Amino acid sequence: MSTKRFYKKTLPVWILFLGIFVATGLVWQATRWVYADTLDKLVKVGRERLTLYSGTLREALSRYAYLPYVLSQNMDVQILLKSSFNVGLVNRYLELLNSEAGSDALYVMNSIGDTWASSNWREPLSFVGKNYGFRPYFTAAKAGHRGAFFAIGVTTGRPGYFMSYPVEEDTRFLGAAVVKVDLTPLQEGWREGGETVLVSDSNGVLFLSSRNDWLYRTLTPLSEAQRTLILAGRQYGDKSLDLLPLETVETLAEGAKIVRFENALYLLLSRPLTSLNGQLHHVVPLAPVRERAQAVAVIGAVLALLILALGMYARERRQKQLSRRKAREAEAIKEMNLRLQAEITERSRTENTLRETQAELVQTEKLAALGHMAAGIVHELNQPISAIRTQVASGRLLLERKETGQVRDTLDAVTRMTEHMASITAQLKIFAHQNPKIKEQVLLQDCLDEALAMVDPLFNEFNILLHKDIPERPLILSGGRGRIKQVLVNLLRNAVDAMYACPQRNLWIKVSISDQDVEISVSDSGSGIAEQDIDELFTPFFTTKEVGKGLGLGLSISYRIVADLGGTIRAQNRPGGGARLVIRLPLINQGNGANK
Ligand code: ADP
Repeated sequence: MSTKRFYKKTLPVWILFLGIFVATGLVWQATRWVYADTLDKLVKVGRERLTLYSGTLREALSRYAYLPYVLSQNMDVQILLKSSFNVGLVNRYLELLNSEAGSDALYVMNSIGDTWASSNWREPLSFVGKNYGFRPYFTAAKAGHRGAFFAIGVTTGRPGYFMSYPVEEDTRFLGAAVVKVDLTPLQEGWREGGETVLVSDSNGVLFLSSRNDWLYRTLTPLSEAQRTLILAGRQYGDKSLDLLPLETVETLAEGAKIVRFENALYLLLSRPLTSLNGQLHHVVPLAPVRERAQAVAVIGAVLALLILALGMYARERRQKQLSRRKAREAEAIKEMNLRLQAEITERSRTENTLRETQAELVQTEKLAALGHMAAGIVHELNQPISAIRTQVASGRLLLERKETGQVRDTLDAVTRMTEHMASITAQLKIFAHQNPKIKEQVLLQDCLDEALAMVDPLFNEFNILLHKDIPERPLILSGGRGRIKQVLVNLLRNAVDAMYACPQRNLWIKVSISDQDVEISVSDSGSGIAEQDIDELFTPFFTTKEVGKGLGLGLSISYRIVADLGGTIRAQNRPGGGARLVIRLPLINQGNGANK
């Protein structure tokens, strides 16, 4: 039982496999969750950065946005454009203002785009005398509104952001006042900060980039029309404006997508810059996110493996315990078997000894019984033999004396004695042969009378008081007269023997009829029967009498005869003391045709 319970406690292998499956699922789920969460945070932080960068950019531009307007309102500038006077004055003014404002260049163009005055009038690459009428910022000013434009300087080759304002007298276009802002310090700042920040124009051309290799490349392929327009405005000089091969892997949300560049994944965040008519971009490498997710996966896997190893270890231990326990149990069973075997051997030895002892006992009992019987037979036969011997001696004497008449009497006596001897041996014969079933009908009363007559001398000798309770009407039985008489004589003699030592000797004979049977009970006031002997009384050679007094055959012979006649015999003690032997025999009829 306990082994069964122990088995149940052992972890089945399939649970281990299920554990591995579940652990793998959990690790995979955790990795996904960490990846998504980290990416989310990255997008959030990236957007915050974008807001910050667009703020700084807007602020950088707005710092100079007023300058073209201020110039357009300047009287000296207006006079210059109307009358070509004041060139030196305006040049110096522009130089001074530019240096104070910190812009890259300040210049004034006439109505066809010729530069008449410029802050860099002293420098070799001065704008003065150059025509920039093709630039879109001039076209915008000519059209009467502000112009804003990013381009690589045609004269200097340095990139800059150009902002223009028309100079007008009433509604007549006199020219344009322009400020060029250098945005490279901003770009340098992003680069130094280790961030990848890009600004693209309306065509998707990256004109500001913290990564040098991405500068003047396009996010989307340029159409022919776009290229023509860009060439016309000589916006990016001779730059080839190649496409930056950013392959979109996944679009996360508006302005947020995952892109692949040279086998590495990046998060590309974009937001529009309305003032610049372009877009600001922030590019973050995804490697850390992936590394974090991978770290979680590795930790999870290690943990799962650890748990699995622990599980295996526990299982192994349990199995070892189990086998140890099984071995112990097997040992115990083996010991038990050996003990049992020894016990069985011991028992069979004892049994054999007992059997032998029993056999010896039986043998001894048999021999004792045989001795008893032999003694009885010897005693019974000795008397008539010595009597015969005496009679024969006296017969011889009588013959010598020629008293032949008396010799006859002697011979008669010898005959009687041999008959007595024959009757003794006949009693023994009943055990050797089956008695023939004689269907002779006899009157019970006759049998009783004859039996009583036979024991009469004993009754007289021992002063026995006889009480008879026998029905008057004749009772007919089926069976041999001699045999029924023999049974009755046996019972009467036993009763007499039992009363031998009693002062008062009473004997009751009671005959009663029930159904088709007659019941004859012979009771006495004698010693009674010991309880333990009641069952043994009818066994051949059972006797309590001393040697020579009884053979132990009387009741067993009676039992055999009664059984032969279809009846029963039983022994019991009388309530008032003494024994009672009861015979029950089948009745033929109640008196008709009695055989006397
Ligand atoms: P035997 O008379 O030779 O001993 P039986 O077979 O006639 O053999 O009787 C067996 C025994 O039964 C007797 O030895 C005696 O102990 C017991 N027995 C028989 N009849 C009586 C009786 N009426 N009272 C007491 N004991 C009896």
